[in-house]
Amino acid sequence: MKEENPISFVCSLCGRPYAMEAGRDRHLCPVCSGSIEPVYDFHGKKEHYRSILRRGSSHGIWGYRELLPVDPDVVPVTLDEGNTPLLQADHLARELGVRRLYLKNETLNPSYTYKDRFATIAVSMAKHKGRHTIALGSAGNAAAALAAFAARGGMDCFVLLPPGAVQDRARQIRSYGAKLITMEETINDCILMAKRGEDLFGWENVSTATCFHPWAAEGYKTIGYEIGRQLDFRLPDWIVCPVGGGALLSKIYRGCQDMLALGLIDHLPRFAGVQAEGCMPLVRAYETGKAVADDWGVPDTIAFAIADVCTFESATVLSLLRSTGGTAVAVSDPEILEAMQATGRKEAVLAEPASAVTVAGVKKLLAGGTISREESVCCIISGNGVRDLPLMVQGLPEVPRVGVDDVEGLRAAVAAYQKGKE
Ligand SMILES: [Zn+2]
Repeated sequence: MKEENPISFVCSLCGRPYAMEAGRDRHLCPVCSGSIEPVYDFHGKKEHYRSILRRGSSHGIWGYRELLPVDPDVVPVTLDEGNTPLLQADHLARELGVRRLYLKNETLNPSYTYKDRFATIAVSMAKHKGRHTIALGSAGNAAAALAAFAARGGMDCFVLLPPGAVQDRARQIRSYGAKLITMEETINDCILMAKRGEDLFGWENVSTATCFHPWAAEGYKTIGYEIGRQLDFRLPDWIVCPVGGGALLSKIYRGCQDMLALGLIDHLPRFAGVQAEGCMPLVRAYETGKAVADDWGVPDTIAFAIADVCTFESATVLSLLRSTGGTAVAVSDPEILEAMQATGRKEAVLAEPASAVTVAGVKKLLAGGTISREESVCCIISGNGVRDLPLMVQGLPEVPRVGVDDVEGLRAAVAAYQKGKE
């Protein structure tokens, strides 16, 4: 078995050095609960790193590997993840009433979500360490990503699934050859059980919160790098991001911090974290002025992919929202559903409920005046709604049926659609 990689780690909030100890199941700063992150030394090499970010990556996210915490001799297991489009969404911008709107379309990743940026690193590292089997607790998207990359890497993958996981996700996971085990308990219990499998079966636990895997979570910051490059390093005023465990938002922020440190941008954008009203631990903490979010009770929302009762990275996320003049907001299920359908209809991007929260969130923040109509906004569309088609068509009128040669019936059907448009 090869050694853990030698990169050093610090707390993202208080900057204290953090010692990686084998066997620890959760990495958070013991003093301030900040997220743990690797350290890169840009000193004297800024032009070199700037050229990497200007050039971008043509082999998955591995063109950025000097900015990722992986040993130089790790062989990438990649499915050409990342490099997702940044769409200028003029139709939706008009509907929402904002000057400029971008959609970072993460739905086009190989397993349909941004989690592939994590999975490529986690699986490559596990394989490099000589592991044959990875395991994780996940309600769906993370498991699909890890299962896909395990298949690509010729590894076994065990997935511990909590009750209530969406069946379409479970079928996708099984299609990659992963072995599902359902548990009666919460996602947290599933994650802990995956950890226990390390001793029992020699598994590599690859559960996807930053606190469980501070190495692979760095993959998410490449979303920030890509947005920078795609906009010629003129970032939008706002980046609006769904929040479950919080790693997606905190790592896109981290990517922006890198670009600032390298002089590619001259200020940070403001960040908005969006949750569903049926599970909003971060928003509650933000609104009540807390430094760390308390766990939520029982989630009740269609946005299951962000219905994490624990916002693992809450200390880091709350701090960065406040320090960038950002905000946190929650949206209702009907608002999410409306945003899903509008994003599909106006921009041909099928956003899963947990991603459509961003569009619903922008609408709410515009209405409340937090985001000005003169500003530019980028929504992170984190996962694909092609697996949520029943929700996409919920509430739409029934499809009319016309018989052979029934021209009058056809006229009536077309007229009914025209009437619906008015
Ligand atoms: Zn700390």
